Amino acid sequence: MGPPGARRAQIGPERTLRGVSAAPGVACGRAVVLDRAGAHEAKTIPPADRSAELDRARHALEVVAEEMEQIALRLRDAGRHPEADIVETGALMAGDPGLAARVETLVMKSGRPAADALREAAEENAMELAQLGDPFLAERADDVRSLGRRAGARASGLMPGVVSGVLVASTLGPADVAELAINAGGMALAGGGVTAHAAIVARSLGVPMVVGLGPEVLEVEDGEEVVLDGDAGVIFRHPERGRIDAARAEAKRRRIAREQAVANRLQPAQTKDGHRLRILANAASAAEVQEALQQGAEGIGLLRTELLFLDSQAWPPSALQASFLSPILAPLAGRVATVRLLDFGGDKTPPFLRGATGRGIELLLEAPDALRAQLAALVDAGRNVELRILVPMVTSPEQIRAVRDALAQVLDGRSAPQVGAMIETPDAAHRADAIAKECDFLSLGTNDLTQLVLGLDREHSKSAPVTDLRVLRLIDATVRAGKAAGIPVDVCGEAASDPEAMPILVGLGVDELSVAAARVGEVRQSIRELDFKASREAARKGLLDQAADAAGQSG
Ligand code: PEP
Ligand code: MG
Repeated sequence: MGPPGARRAQIGPERTLRGVSAAPGVACGRAVVLDRAGAHEAKTIPPADRSAELDRARHALEVVAEEMEQIALRLRDAGRHPEADIVETGALMAGDPGLAARVETLVMKSGRPAADALREAAEENAMELAQLGDPFLAERADDVRSLGRRAGARASGLMPGVVSGVLVASTLGPADVAELAINAGGMALAGGGVTAHAAIVARSLGVPMVVGLGPEVLEVEDGEEVVLDGDAGVIFRHPERGRIDAARAEAKRRRIAREQAVANRLQPAQTKDGHRLRILANAASAAEVQEALQQGAEGIGLLRTELLFLDSQAWPPSALQASFLSPILAPLAGRVATVRLLDFGGDKTPPFLRGATGRGIELLLEAPDALRAQLAALVDAGRNVELRILVPMVTSPEQIRAVRDALAQVLDGRSAPQVGAMIETPDAAHRADAIAKECDFLSLGTNDLTQLVLGLDREHSKSAPVTDLRVLRLIDATVRAGKAAGIPVDVCGEAASDPEAMPILVGLGVDELSVAAARVGEVRQSIRELDFKASREAARKGLLDQAADAAGQSG
């Protein structure tokens, strides 16, 4: 890693490198390049010096294990237990005898310097993981690489510095992100995935991150000015003046908006004409819950439990689930906490479910012990909150009845929490009336619903298309079903915070919006600027106009 600002920024036309959005936000600043392909010079250690070199490598691994344990402790002190567990896994990897054996061979037999041996041994381990053909293990490969890089840096005498600016690296592990996030404005990775633990930690800590930028991003010069757009998933090299100004203005706007959100957290989320909404937050970590509450969230509308167990080799035991959930739920005493049952499947398939075809509740109902184990954990960890259990990927009312039956078996005299269905499949929306009759609340998952109705790619279906007539009709039907059953309807997909879609959803009559923790204040402010009556009329007119257009086109 070279010092930031070591080289002058090249003058040249602006270039856009495209990756995938892993954590939202905008960052503008000088690049700090953590790795560069082929940067290490080939050097051979003479045989007489090799055992001292091996000692250095072993010591570096011990130092790194200790550092990671310290980071994990700090995260645990801050109530960030899931992130701490992730980082602790890194400390365990540092003690892996297989890694140690590889390092020994590289140093003693091939005469590789300690730093290179550590990186190369980690790379070999990572390649093995990546070649197993399991996308989740492949992402753990990044954690091993990060460990090798960290140990290599220690063997060369480099200690972690205070890094500010935009970090550029091939990959980063969750421990790197937790450590570097304190000062880094943003992170740009050649590899990585949006479900990688590094991305989960970045999102929960509010650091913009773009992944999957490819090796080209490693050609960025240390000290070169870049603009990173975590929402769009791009990084701009040699950004034009206007781009830099706009990025700085946007970063400033977000900072000020957050400060205002915190200052206004006690003001109600009520439209100008007095219509009250409940604004809740989506979360998967204690850090997000804390941020949401600071911005005035009334509780949690979607806690995605599956994100805590994406590495699992088996259905997670009840006690383990309760221990993960307790610190996340602790700040929510007396408030609503909507915890979703494990929504495994699709892009959230842990190793033990590879090859399974179902998704969400379908998988859980095939594993009744696992369902009961999770319900018991929720009832146990949720005893101080107003617990609502949310059932993912529902397609029929029978599934809700089955969840209630399983719940009755674990209550053990305690009062039953509310149970609600995610309406995120066309089947569920078509049967919303029947499903609503079994539920205490409904929650519209507009991310999956939009994708499934319109046949779009999930990443591109998170905003405007929700206003497509085919989707709006299903949302409208769901809201009506909720009203007929006398239960609240929530929206927990990204559309709830989309500036175009949100007023329409409010106009259609949804009662609650659950949005990313970092957006709670912004959405609450937008509600205060809305006129409910006008939104209702606009939503109805929008539906009718689109229907007339569609009829005109087909006629
Ligand atoms: C949704 O589908 O809108 C939703 C909130 O669930 P997830 O994004 O976790 O699939
Ligand atoms: Mg979904």
